[in-house]
Amino acid sequence: MSASASEQDCVFCAITRGDIPSDRVYSDDQVVAFRDINPQAPAHLLVAPRRHVASIDQLRDDEALLGRVMSVAVRVAQAEDLAESGYRLATNHGRDGAQTVPHLHVHVLGGRALRGRLG
Ligand code: AMP
Repeated sequence: MSASASEQDCVFCAITRGDIPSDRVYSDDQVVAFRDINPQAPAHLLVAPRRHVASIDQLRDDEALLGRVMSVAVRVAQAEDLAESGYRLATNHGRDGAQTVPHLHVHVLGGRALRGRLG
């Protein structure tokens, strides 16, 4: 099956394939986790499915993959030793959601006291 135009142009598809480098902390057959290139906190990682999905809005009915991504996000947060102090999981969809990379990813943020308000 040939890749769609969006997959060919997608930076996170390239990262999950290993075609462009990333600081990878976890990978399995469905999901990859890597450090954000522009961290907003001492720990800032991204968890993305290997399959190209534009955002969580397109994954509504795929509970298995949704669960997998969230489960890996928690695993990554724990591996970063964030469980005791706390962490935030966040995912953005679309323009008003401030999504900049149109391939689903969950941010794992921690290592400092995050502000209580979102946005
Ligand atoms: P969002 O605004 O939710 O779409 O978040 C996209 C995130 O991807 C931002 O935090 C960027 O810093 C991060 N990012 C963009 N390109 C890369 C890259 N090549 N490697 C790691 N993180 C990246």
